[in-house]
Amino acid sequence: MFGLGSEDTRIRRQLVSVLHSRPIGIVIGSASGVAVAAAALASNPPSVLRWTLGLMALFAASRAISSYGSRSLDNGFGRFLRRTYWMGARGYAATAGLAAGLSLVVSDHAHVQILLIGFALTFGAGISIGNACRPMVTLAQMSLTLVPIAIGALIVGSIPLLVLALVLCALSIALGVMTMNIASTLVDQQRTSLESEDLAAQMQEFARTDQVTGLANRTGFEVKARELFSTVAPDKVLALLWIDLHRFKDVNDTLGHETGDAVLIEVGKKLDGCSPGGAVVARFGSDEFVILAELDNRKELDGLANKISDILEQPVNIFGHRINSGAAMGVSLKDDSVESLDRLMQHADLALYQAKLAGRGSVSFFNESMTRDLLRRTELEGELRGAIQRDELSIYFQPIIDLASGEIRAFEALVRWFHPTKGEMLPQEFIPVAEESGLIITLGNWVTRQAAKVAVNWPDHVRLCVNLSPVQIRAPGAALGILAAIREAGIDASRLELEVTENLFLDDDAETALFLEQLSLEGVQFALDDFGTGYSSLHYIRKYPFRTIKVDRSFVSVPGVDKRNDAIIRAVASMGETLGLDIVAEGLETAEQVRSVRSAGCTLGQGFHFSGAVPEHMARKLLDDETACRVPTRLAG
Ligand code: C2E
Ligand code: MG
Ligand code: MG
Repeated sequence: MFGLGSEDTRIRRQLVSVLHSRPIGIVIGSASGVAVAAAALASNPPSVLRWTLGLMALFAASRAISSYGSRSLDNGFGRFLRRTYWMGARGYAATAGLAAGLSLVVSDHAHVQILLIGFALTFGAGISIGNACRPMVTLAQMSLTLVPIAIGALIVGSIPLLVLALVLCALSIALGVMTMNIASTLVDQQRTSLESEDLAAQMQEFARTDQVTGLANRTGFEVKARELFSTVAPDKVLALLWIDLHRFKDVNDTLGHETGDAVLIEVGKKLDGCSPGGAVVARFGSDEFVILAELDNRKELDGLANKISDILEQPVNIFGHRINSGAAMGVSLKDDSVESLDRLMQHADLALYQAKLAGRGSVSFFNESMTRDLLRRTELEGELRGAIQRDELSIYFQPIIDLASGEIRAFEALVRWFHPTKGEMLPQEFIPVAEESGLIITLGNWVTRQAAKVAVNWPDHVRLCVNLSPVQIRAPGAALGILAAIREAGIDASRLELEVTENLFLDDDAETALFLEQLSLEGVQFALDDFGTGYSSLHYIRKYPFRTIKVDRSFVSVPGVDKRNDAIIRAVASMGETLGLDIVAEGLETAEQVRSVRSAGCTLGQGFHFSGAVPEHMARKLLDDETACRVPTRLAG
């Protein structure tokens, strides 16, 4: 009932430590024992009692000393005292009881008898309170104290002493029962409190752990990272590596969450395995991992970043699927300007942003210019949002000319933003911001709708070219949005040509293919824009239904100066002819360039030589002039 199993030693230790936490009881108990023994000895008792009293005083003193020493000494002697403490305690109880019992038998000094019996009884009762958590100890010590008195009383045999013996028996039983009750209550309470402590610790651990990978989650990371941040040695390098898996969402969407989780577990293991000892490795959000590591020097950090990048580039095999995870990584270092962990994380986040822009497998280290870029981007994003709402954007049209006949074959719709105070903003500057913020979806849909409404009034043979960003294509219902714009304007789908760049195919996914297929079936045409600046892979040209390839203007050099450019244009043009594709030479600024690309085999041309992008009414005028004289007019570019 009150016994504590070996697994409960933790509870026993706790209770004993409570007992010993206030040693004042032991000190008073020992000091009073010495005083009682001295007072009794002063009455010159018979020698057997004298010896017993002497021993009692010795045990009392040793108990006080060993109680003090066992708490304050952390050496071998302290451990010896802790181990032998119980002997002093039992000896003290036994000699106090023996002295009281003997005094009844061998002494006729009433005051000494009262002193010794009174002390022994008080001591016995005190033991039962002090050791309430250890009933067996209580019973043993109480018996050692009370039994000799009872025996002495029985030996003397007088009626009062016989009653005393009986009372002592009854008292022992009563104290024993009370002690056991108290003990079981204390043990229950202690167990409950320890269980709730354990539960609280388990819950805390749970709240700090990522349940998929078993790594720390954001909360767990912050707790451990703050500690590492504040204790890092001054001659070490503390680095934060923030890793973002490449297009992990697609794995989840196409192969299911179970596969996605398995990829995360695998990546978690890889990262944990290659991180140096003591590093904090955590998973943030769905596909982001963070490592905070203390390293010897910058070289070691470079090595670690490259190693992680290489490891994540290697495909993982999950449930028979070969999955190419790959990742972008931002790295920041703790230096004098980084006063907190939050700042270090902010820096790594900014560096990650740059790495993501640079594409899969990129590693970017933080530098101050990234903070300035962020401020500029945030400001620009706010302004662009306002500009869209206030209808401050407009669409200009740049003609695309048939190089054989000189006729306008198409107009490319190019967005223009005239800022009320800053003047004209360049698309190269604000289109990337619109893409990052998702504003491009609203913006792109607006351009398609507006441009289609304009183009419906042009002659039927003039196409409308609209630039399409990969972000727009991945937005839900992208194809439907475009079809709705065509229908709303009432323009024939085959007159719309969507310009996409090779970036769209870097992730060669099913979504893109479906988008192109859906619109192609409706008759919409596609052009591969800025050809030559990306991977220039012929694979895309074969796989997707392009009607046009636009050779980037960087290939249109001064004719004859760069022979390689000429050769490339010639090769692309000849491929176009074979495959029945239109080849547009972009950025034609001079008549010489026009002649050159025409002789190279390009069918169409676009550039300031013919016209820059012009507002709607000017585009209309170009068409009207053409109808009037059938010669392309040269306008200012
Ligand atoms: P892009 O699609 O390659 O468009 C052609 C760019 O080349 C246009 O710049 C055009 O003004 C410029 N250009 C045309 N002829 C010449 C020339 O002879 N010499 C030189 N140096 N440049 C010439 P713009 O309008 O600044 O647009 C830049 C890029 O911004 C576009 O490149 C396109 O990728 C993007 N963009 C523009 N409008 C839109 C839009 O409505 N939606 C999307 N998603 N992107 C757009
Ligand atoms: Mg374009
Ligand atoms: Mg282009």
